[in-house]
Amino acid sequence: MDRRTFSRQLIAGLAALPLWNLAYGNHPDPSRKKVIVIGAGIAGAAAARALANAGLEAQVLEASGRVGGRIHTFRDWGVNLELGANWVHNTNHPDNRIDEQLRQLGVALEKTNYYRFQLFDGEGQQISRLRALLYSLNLQKRVQQAWQELAGTEAGLSIRQVFDHAASDPGLSSARQAMLRFSREAYAQSLAASLSDASADHYLGADNGEALGKDQLVLGGYDTLVNHLLQGVPVQLHTEVREIRQQGQQVEVLAGNDTYEADYAIVTVPLSILQNGGIQFSPGFPEEKKRALSRLRLGLFNKVAMRFTEKFWSGSPDFLVLQHNRGEHGSILLNHHHYSGQPILVAMPVADAAAWLEAQDEETIQRSWREALHKAFPHREIEFRGTAVTRWQANPFSRGSYSFVPVGAAARDFAAIAEPLGRIHFAGEATISAFHGTVHGAYLSGVREAERVMGGKG
Ligand SMILES: Cc1cc2nc3c(=O)[nH]c(=O)nc-3n(C[C@H](O)[C@H](O)[C@H](O)COP(=O)(O)OP(=O)(O)OC[C@H]3O[C@@H](n4cnc5c(N)ncnc54)[C@H](O)[C@@H]3O)c2cc1C
Repeated sequence: MDRRTFSRQLIAGLAALPLWNLAYGNHPDPSRKKVIVIGAGIAGAAAARALANAGLEAQVLEASGRVGGRIHTFRDWGVNLELGANWVHNTNHPDNRIDEQLRQLGVALEKTNYYRFQLFDGEGQQISRLRALLYSLNLQKRVQQAWQELAGTEAGLSIRQVFDHAASDPGLSSARQAMLRFSREAYAQSLAASLSDASADHYLGADNGEALGKDQLVLGGYDTLVNHLLQGVPVQLHTEVREIRQQGQQVEVLAGNDTYEADYAIVTVPLSILQNGGIQFSPGFPEEKKRALSRLRLGLFNKVAMRFTEKFWSGSPDFLVLQHNRGEHGSILLNHHHYSGQPILVAMPVADAAAWLEAQDEETIQRSWREALHKAFPHREIEFRGTAVTRWQANPFSRGSYSFVPVGAAARDFAAIAEPLGRIHFAGEATISAFHGTVHGAYLSGVREAERVMGGKG
């Protein structure tokens, strides 16, 4: 199951900061300003497109050898497999036009039904879907109730504490326990984080303004949008920016032995790169930005796409859930066959299970999944044709998957990170409180900073 899922629908959290009412500092003549955009992910592409459309000169510098960043479409198996983002979330929010844009580009999307799953418990026994759904509804009520009971009793509650309080009954049947673990995992997956780390105050607290909406699975290649936005914009690959300094009314961007000059820079690199000093800034960051950077965290969510010689599972669920596989975080599989007709399952571990995965070789990963699948489908032949495994933590230009709010952090930290440093601007998924960690959030942040550079005229 994916982001903003039924677990997310239990309760909305997060005090939304308005996207468009940020004070514009400068009002330059936009006629021929030059802006260097650092990073060719969706935020950088959206910023560059908005600048170019308004007649400014935009140049994109990208450290890796491809555009897209955490959007990465893999096509080697004759289908479009998304190794980064796959869904468009919150599609009924008026600010989110990503699904519409993709459709206009001829990219196929399909609605995901999070309730269409096959659930296997800790022993590999399938649980009836009707029972699982009834438990799920019951659990939603219990979590809401638990939050009401616990809210305000203790500072710094984690979501895990609330779930534990909701299900503290030791006599819970194994089917109910399976449903509880499933909903915990689904929630953890929506945040790319362990629920023990994620802030209950933030996610379960005040209305977050995130419109819950239908999630659309992108089937026709998410990277089509990035490529489209960057059409006609000069993009320099293999150009890792190490330093950015403001000198009077100019910005200097240093990469390798080259120095690029511009009127403005828009930095769209992931949170981790800002946190670990991957880029030196002059002037340095103010205290509030430093504090926000030390509080927010980048979570970890990986994917294992598994291609088999034939489909051995039955029916056509959107998801298979195998709870006997590596505890609570490694059990949810997207049934790609449901969408593409190909015998492909995509596992989506988060947090510890995602970190475990990064340390394994392909053989170990295949063995571990073969065993887990055999338990659920004991009489079927399971033969791999290949696997595609992500290692977002080890990737030097992402160092993780997407941001989340841990215990002790708050929505305002995103705004502090977004705050410009003179002529140096900041966009990306970790600079926008509503919709952080999403493609549409990153997109909106890129447009926001382009408009800020243009003095709000864009
Ligand atoms: C496994 C996974 C699943 C996800 N699933 C979904 C989903 O289903 N739906 C959804 O909405 N979101 C999802 N997300 C989150 C979504 O992908 C991100 O929020 C979004 O793509 C981030 O875009 P961005 O432009 O902010 O950052 P990025 O895409 O990371 O772009 C930043 C760019 O900066 C480059 N860079 C880094 N350092 C430097 C440097 N020093 N110099 C120059 N360039 C540099 C990077 O190479 C990268 O290309 C998922 C993410 C992952 C990893």
